[in-house]
Amino acid sequence: MATRTGRGRPCTYCPRTGADVCVRVLRDDHGGQHIYAHRACAEDRSVTPMYSFIDQPKAGAGR
Ligand SMILES: [Zn+2]
Repeated sequence: MATRTGRGRPCTYCPRTGADVCVRVLRDDHGGQHIYAHRACAEDRSVTPMYSFIDQPKAGAGR
């Protein structure tokens, strides 16, 4: 149960961590950062994720 490597990614739409999709990548001249969000938060805003992470266990999601 020590495989929570994805924990701690901040969601850009809400204050919680554990974001599991990337919704945006900033241009290099804006820092080149990857912006993460929860899949549900992105869907709420009709944002199509660019890619998702598969290193997160599904158990416990929805909290
Ligand atoms: Zn969120």
